Amino acid sequence: MLNLVLFGPPGAGKGTQAEFLGKNFNLVHISTGDLLRTEIAAKTHLGIEAKKNIDKGELVPDSVVVDMIKGKLNAHPTANGFIFDGFPRTVAQAEALDLILEQNGMEISGMLCLQVEKQELINRLLNRGLTSGRSDDRDQSIIENRISVYERKTAPLIEFYKSKGKYIPVEGMGTVEEIADKLVQSVKAL
Ligand code: ADP
Repeated sequence: MLNLVLFGPPGAGKGTQAEFLGKNFNLVHISTGDLLRTEIAAKTHLGIEAKKNIDKGELVPDSVVVDMIKGKLNAHPTANGFIFDGFPRTVAQAEALDLILEQNGMEISGMLCLQVEKQELINRLLNRGLTSGRSDDRDQSIIENRISVYERKTAPLIEFYKSKGKYIPVEGMGTVEEIADKLVQSVKAL
């Protein structure tokens, strides 16, 4: 079984590449950002609460996303594996993920970390904001807050996975196809 974490700052290209890798390796793609946006569109209580955090560029509470992950894992009992996109984003989430996987006889195979320069992230997010309809992509100060939240709360996961021997840095600058190729090579080397 192959369980991958696709990791990187906002704008690193996780969504695009996770979808591709999911198809390529027959993995269930789980994006907590997409799951949250589905809740927002459906105007559920969870969605309405989460939107308040998302629109400020803050994280939603760990318990909310961990419950979503549990639901998704339970919904795919015969999966060949999973690719987690935008999750985990805090050490508490990573610990919760390890526990859930362990309870189901699974573990993370590797954490692929996309490396992208900060100015490139801001450019990509502002560009995406022109067409994505995402409220959190439209305002430079919110984008900068998301990157700062990433640096404070999410980047420590690099050490978390390094200490388990699961950290795999991957060049995230270049064309979508070039990056996809590098990711495939890294997964095949696992
Ligand atoms: P990006 O990585 O491009 O910022 P995502 O779609 O992964 O986009 O996430 C959008 C927003 O949804 C985040 O800024 C955050 O507010 C919220 N979110 C998504 N995943 C998580 C998570 N695992 N923990 C907490 N908040 C999350």
